[in-house]
Amino acid sequence: MNLDLSKHVIVVSGGAKGIGAAIVHALAAEGARPAVIDRDADALAALRKECILSASVVADLRDLDACRDAIATIAATTGRIDGLVNNAGVNDSVGLEHGTPDRYRESLRTNLHHYYDLAHFALPHLKLARGAIVNVASKTAVTGQGNTSGYASAKGAILALTREWAAELLPYGIRVNAIVPAEVMTPLYQQWLETFPDPDAKRADILSRIPLERRMTLPAEIAAMACFLLSPRAGHTTGQHLFVDGGYVHLDRALT
Ligand code: NAP
Repeated sequence: MNLDLSKHVIVVSGGAKGIGAAIVHALAAEGARPAVIDRDADALAALRKECILSASVVADLRDLDACRDAIATIAATTGRIDGLVNNAGVNDSVGLEHGTPDRYRESLRTNLHHYYDLAHFALPHLKLARGAIVNVASKTAVTGQGNTSGYASAKGAILALTREWAAELLPYGIRVNAIVPAEVMTPLYQQWLETFPDPDAKRADILSRIPLERRMTLPAEIAAMACFLLSPRAGHTTGQHLFVDGGYVHLDRALT
């Protein structure tokens, strides 16, 4: 299937590592022109050596001005924005019992506010392109995890915003969908595993609970869904929450 993404400028937040980087590689392979915003300057420099980017911006998206400037820089460099992948986020373990109200607010800034900010600033360009938005959420939005109130509520809001923006942007032909990953091996996931006393045992335990093939989802499998959703081939798909998780969230527990 030709996804017809050739020359499309797609902004990917948090695109220097993990799932975001896999999306960037997949977009480039489809002939699109990925533009990356990430705060990890070293990882972004490494990515630039592997892949042709239409623009790259080192920025911390917790800062509103940084979001505005990043979109302005990308638009000035590329002349167009056809799609936005809101992906940057951190599972930061701000719980109800062991967190604080200040850390909770900070977690929303880390995981939620920039999804709105980037979409807001990119919107004039997306309107011109009749573009598409893909929001990366998390299974924690619907399953909970424990000790991660900030992250889980941000991800829940991202699922709600996906429906809300899909409705609001109908007149412009802009489609908005969410991908909901569960267990994907990335630098962030590895860091989380290493918080357990026996990371290998924890990993084996998780794998045993993933219905399809008892394995983690590959970043490339999330990226393939993102490319499809961004492409004209998904022209009548909007407001959807796509669980790319090997059946982890929805299939019967008895199967594992
Ligand atoms: P990752 O390996 O940490 O990669 C994310 C990249 O985004 C990193 O380079 C990170 O930089 C950057 N980033 C984070 N916050 C940023 C900010 N405020 N401003 C600029 N850059 C920022 O993470 P990942 O596992 O690929 O996760 C990507 C998305 O998938 C996240 O939204 C996550 O919640 C979601 N997700 C992942 C999984 C999974 O199993 N991996 C499951 C469910 C949902 P730093 O390294 O400096 O933070």
